[in-house]
Amino acid sequence: MRSAAILAVWLIPVVALAGPLAVFDGGRAAAIVKADGLQAEGLEAVRDLAAYLKRSTGAEFTVISEAEADPARHPVRLYVGAVAALPAADREALVRLDSDAYLVDITADGSAFLVGPQPWSTYWAVCQFLEDQVGVRWLFPGPLGEDVPEHERLVLPPWRQVYTPVLLSRQWSGDHHGGRWSLRQRLHARYRFHHNLVRVFDAERYYDEHPEWFPLRASGQRYRPQGEKDHSWQPCLASDSSVRHAAACARQAWAENPGLDSFSYGCNDGQGWCECEGCKAMDRPLTPWEGFEGTYSCRYYAWLNRVAADLETTHPENLIGCLAYSTYILPPEPIGLHRNVIPYYTSNRADYYEPEFRQQDQRLLEWWGRVAHQMGIYDYAYGMGFAIPRIYSHLFQEAIQHAVKNRVKGFYAEVYPNWGLDGPKLYLMSRVLWNPAVDIDALFTEWNQRLFRESWEPMAAYFRRCERAWSEQRTGRGHWAYRLAGDPRQFEVFPPAVLAECTGYLDQAAALAQSDLVRERIRFFRKTWEITLLLAGNYWAGHEVDRLVAAEAPLEQVAAALRRMADQVVTLDTDAYVRERVGNDPIAFHPPLPGWFEPLKTGADANAMRLSASRLSARVVREAVEGGRISADDLRGLIGRRLDEAFGTAGSENFRAYVARLRAMALKVAKVTRCDAPPAIDGRLDDPAWTGADVLTDFVRWGNTAAAQYPTRARLLHDGTMLYIALDCEQDTSALQTDAAPRDGSTWKDDSVEIFINPGLEALPYVQFILNARGAFFDLWGRKEGESYAERVGATFTCRWATQVEPGRWTGELAIPLSEFGCTAAPRTLLRLNLARNVQGKAPEISAWFLSVKAHADAASRGWIVFE
Ligand SMILES: [Zn+2]
Repeated sequence: MRSAAILAVWLIPVVALAGPLAVFDGGRAAAIVKADGLQAEGLEAVRDLAAYLKRSTGAEFTVISEAEADPARHPVRLYVGAVAALPAADREALVRLDSDAYLVDITADGSAFLVGPQPWSTYWAVCQFLEDQVGVRWLFPGPLGEDVPEHERLVLPPWRQVYTPVLLSRQWSGDHHGGRWSLRQRLHARYRFHHNLVRVFDAERYYDEHPEWFPLRASGQRYRPQGEKDHSWQPCLASDSSVRHAAACARQAWAENPGLDSFSYGCNDGQGWCECEGCKAMDRPLTPWEGFEGTYSCRYYAWLNRVAADLETTHPENLIGCLAYSTYILPPEPIGLHRNVIPYYTSNRADYYEPEFRQQDQRLLEWWGRVAHQMGIYDYAYGMGFAIPRIYSHLFQEAIQHAVKNRVKGFYAEVYPNWGLDGPKLYLMSRVLWNPAVDIDALFTEWNQRLFRESWEPMAAYFRRCERAWSEQRTGRGHWAYRLAGDPRQFEVFPPAVLAECTGYLDQAAALAQSDLVRERIRFFRKTWEITLLLAGNYWAGHEVDRLVAAEAPLEQVAAALRRMADQVVTLDTDAYVRERVGNDPIAFHPPLPGWFEPLKTGADANAMRLSASRLSARVVREAVEGGRISADDLRGLIGRRLDEAFGTAGSENFRAYVARLRAMALKVAKVTRCDAPPAIDGRLDDPAWTGADVLTDFVRWGNTAAAQYPTRARLLHDGTMLYIALDCEQDTSALQTDAAPRDGSTWKDDSVEIFINPGLEALPYVQFILNARGAFFDLWGRKEGESYAERVGATFTCRWATQVEPGRWTGELAIPLSEFGCTAAPRTLLRLNLARNVQGKAPEISAWFLSVKAHADAASRGWIVFE
């Protein structure tokens, strides 16, 4: 332990004939003596100590100040905080102790000192005392997760220990439903590292006076950022004044908040790097390594080194936090890193079940560990977006043990937990962060024994099986942080046999339970597991169709499988089911983002239909092209006939409903009408040319085949060179969300429409355009595998566009030069296209012309357009 030196100072020999501490004995309760000036968590420590001792013994524990303590009336005292009675040597040592460390000292003369140097660490001293000496456990949030043993008598022998964490900063986000639970697990943030340059270089305050701090664009203009949400840019890092200004920001923050001893220079969450000669001169692009990029590593960290050197002159011990991420995820080995920089390396350690990925990822962390003087790791321990247990405690422990050997001192994770599915996961994680060498198997067993008593063995078997399912999955792997979140493929982690085995353990546990409390705890996990059973069950019902489509099986076989799927799928209202099962219990199941739950709800059968429709139409189109019959009307007729032959019209109501939706999707073939007078690109759809064009409408909800609630109509024209698209989007326009930068910002987060065009049947190449309701535009060109996002978004087409907003709708027009991405408008040209509509606001909705299940970029989510 890092505290060895301090511990040695503190170790005082225990007197052999020590008197015990009578917390509660013969009906007499000890007094709780609080230090003067206790604040924040220190006051909660006093309240918690009194409350849990009362629950454990039934007695009232009075809380008094040190001045009120009377030796005759209060012979036994539990001191909380830095009281005057604390021995001088301890008071002195307290000042030198790490801010997260704390002392639990049950003295030989029958008192207890529970104290840390900070309010939160004092709180933890009380937690430690309640856990070790009273036996209290906070196993998951809420009353059901607490275990408080009852004591008729509570008399304790002397005990003294200083507790110090190995990881000095332990932080996660999205746990607010758990109340004080994470604090009780000793979570506390120390280092700042998140996206922050958008605030350091606040455009509203500084642009007019210092345009040179903002990025130079290819147009020769300095970009003016559009508020705090605009992350589509990085500052210009070439000027000395940008270094001085950035350093001054940290100094100001530290002066205003003396408790703060780090400051974040985390890059904005986008690209948009400066193109000035000064910035480019700082670049020493690193060769991409195993898919990781270092295009801007040297530029960014060289600048950060200068800021750190400036700050070191006044604050030699304060740390400079940042993210190691995106195009600067590779360590800047050629230039080194200032000793005060702490980069947080982002990765998805849940995927360490895949040995090759783990090795690769750990090699990069080791590389960082050689360049940086201290590191943090940034993780994705969700939770939300998953309707399956996602437990990987052993992989996590190994990852943290490896991390601390490579100078990792800080940990952060996005968690948004589903405690009802993940059981002991976060409890064990918090223990590992405090002490990576902890025996998590023993902790796991105790966690189960304390919660489930007579039923503990099948419950432990259940959670172990869930962890094994995660580590044995064959769904791929990835650096992509949100892999499988909101993706129905997550159900492949739990094949039908594993689902049945897990349910069996829960049944056994329920049969063994002998008290209402244990029954209720088992029900808490069972009710959440039933969400898994429903959604995974539906996924597997559709799986056979997916498999046959992927294997290019004859359509008749696909139809037979679809018939079986229609019989197996449980067609109940999933939202109502979830409400009924877990009620409003955000501890059991974190309220998911709609975009992360919709695809899970209907992902299986919707995906089966999407793939069937896509494959069927592609096959018919291929045959038609060979036969030379390619007009939109011909193709629709051929597809309809082929559908009838393969799927028939008879069958269960469910089956017929599926076929009707499949037909609607497969028939998404539209004509691109030739016009003599191109429309004026002004956003108004009043040009006569639009009148005769096909209307692309009947959008369906993302991840779903239900009709969209916000109508969208698109029309297509061409003049032999340009493709013209008209968009007509109905929605309340009184509070449109249009925050994206004018070009290549996060336009998809706005009220907007996305357009995808694939020239061929393959995933690549493809182009993507996005237009928001106020005319911000985005274009991207995916040409080949292995390109970076920056390369793809770096493509700039000479499009024209305009929008108009009126009450109840916004409209847009675009002119797209086909030849710039290798397409032509020759008659009978076929392209694959999809349109996705994003509606934000209070009732957000993503919808698409052709059903889209996960990423719109998935090439199977396309209808057809035929040039006239
Ligand atoms: Zn620059």
